[in-house]
Amino acid sequence: MSRFFSSNFVELTPYTPGEQPKEKKYIKLNTNESPFLPAPAVCEAAKASAASLNLYSDPESTKLTQALAKRFGVDFYNVIATNGSDEALNFAFAAFSDAKNPIVFPDITYGFYPVFARLNRIPYETVSLSCDFKIDYRDYVAINKNIVIANPNAPTGILLPLSEVEEIVKSNPDNVVIIDEAYMDFCDSVLELDDYSSLDGKVWKESAINLVPKYDNLIVTGTFSKSRSLAGGRLGFAIANKDLIADMRTIKYSTNPYNVNSITSACGVAALENDGYYMKNCQTIIKNREYLTCELKNRGFSILPSSSNFVFAKSEKIGGEKLYLELKSAGILVRHFETDKLGQYNRITVGTTSEIDALLKAIDEIIK
Ligand SMILES: *Cc1c(COP(=O)(O)O)cnc(C)c1O
Repeated sequence: MSRFFSSNFVELTPYTPGEQPKEKKYIKLNTNESPFLPAPAVCEAAKASAASLNLYSDPESTKLTQALAKRFGVDFYNVIATNGSDEALNFAFAAFSDAKNPIVFPDITYGFYPVFARLNRIPYETVSLSCDFKIDYRDYVAINKNIVIANPNAPTGILLPLSEVEEIVKSNPDNVVIIDEAYMDFCDSVLELDDYSSLDGKVWKESAINLVPKYDNLIVTGTFSKSRSLAGGRLGFAIANKDLIADMRTIKYSTNPYNVNSITSACGVAALENDGYYMKNCQTIIKNREYLTCELKNRGFSILPSSSNFVFAKSEKIGGEKLYLELKSAGILVRHFETDKLGQYNRITVGTTSEIDALLKAIDEIIK
């Protein structure tokens, strides 16, 4: 730290992203990226848009915002496009919480929430998960505080039913409730999809986007990083009542008006035009998740019930950190969290079947 660093931030512990090693080719099952390439039309859109990089991007992200509104069956003014959903979350923290309006979230959840809270100097409170790693919605009913919940939660993968989400939103009418749906495209109802032609207006029945027309205190965030093979493009969004979106836009125009660059914006439009391709990939990931879960259970692992593109797994035969390190030396990266409650576990991204088979083979070698 330099002697000039603001006292506002000396207490700040930044978020630690999963490893992105350059020195060696790993099978990457540590950051919940998609193993599938972007749709060919997305790569073409990236290439075509590069020709106008001399110009600033459209600060309104007009085409992209229209495409998002159409896809999720909401109005243009219910949507804001952001530089990853992390930015949508940061805008929402900054816009709606402050010293007098603390924010509440589970003790085991996305590691960025406490960071956004400290960065914006917002007091926060955490609520323990139940002993089976579930969120008990009753802990959040009528607490009269701002709330952020990842649904499905990370790193547990467990889904909170929409009826329970609604109880939380409904019972805190004077506070903002943020539902972070980074993994919603891996919920079970995606498997029921059999027409991939147009997904306009299609919202999974588990998603809180269904509640946006009904509640003026609800913000739902989503991302192209996990289900839409665009982690490197940095594209996310929030869907909410138009007044909440207007406030988030005020924060955006006060920090980075050109938050979504023109290449990413073009990629996002092309991705939504080909959303059937991505949702089909999500179906594959869900099937692979069931395969991975079953095979790990056969090897004596306990697995939390996942509605996401990762599983949270522990073995009685080997410690969490030891397994992580042994897999790393075998060329496979998984995510390990070194805390009391999570240390025994590893979070393993669901990859292709060949990646899963390589993982299982390595595990067999390690625990034999
Ligand atoms: C990955 C993730 C995000 C955000 O990812 P972006 O790449 O910034 O869109 C948000 N919330 C959770 C729970 C995540 O796992």
